[in-house]
Amino acid sequence: MLRGEKGVRHAAILEGRTVEPVRNVLEQIVGQLASPEWLKNVLKLKWRQIVGDQLAKRTQVRHVKDGVVTVVASNPAVANELQYRKDELRRRIRETAQFEPLDIRIRIGVVQPEETVKVQQIERELSRLVLSSREKSLIEQTVAPIKDPELREKVARVFEQFLRLNQWKRRHGFKECPRCKALYRGHRAYCPVCRIELRRLAHHN
Ligand SMILES: [Zn+2]
Repeated sequence: MLRGEKGVRHAAILEGRTVEPVRNVLEQIVGQLASPEWLKNVLKLKWRQIVGDQLAKRTQVRHVKDGVVTVVASNPAVANELQYRKDELRRRIRETAQFEPLDIRIRIGVVQPEETVKVQQIERELSRLVLSSREKSLIEQTVAPIKDPELREKVARVFEQFLRLNQWKRRHGFKECPRCKALYRGHRAYCPVCRIELRRLAHHN
């Protein structure tokens, strides 16, 4: 339950209820950002921005695992185009989602069109969300000790994205995992990540 404890403290920080050393906050954010679920969400939300309108209709992020991004293309021609533009794609992902993929794998499959519309809607909603003054000052406090101005700006932007997405998830019926405080959807008692960990722990005992 040690990890759970850490998670509880983290959530309290994000809510601004307690003041914790900046390093802890950063560690926690980086941990959250590194989770495959989070990366997939970010890539889905930013996909149109990353590949452009035309390709966004014909491609889709399927999953992110161990730093490898799997993209589905609707037909071989589109898959070829993505393959050809892989380096560019990698650069766009790095710039837009602040995440460096280890590899990008392209598969041919079904691209669900309604998802594009849904994601566009989510994107609009996200851009309309206003951060509270408490959230803004939390970002400022967190990044203040970072000396490199470029890095400071980058961490501030990532943190802002994180808070916006958290706000959005709460508004859309996500609930907080009692163990790690991540936001997730569904009727289960714990988030998907904790469910796997708990199963693994039970297995070892
Ligand atoms: Zn959890």
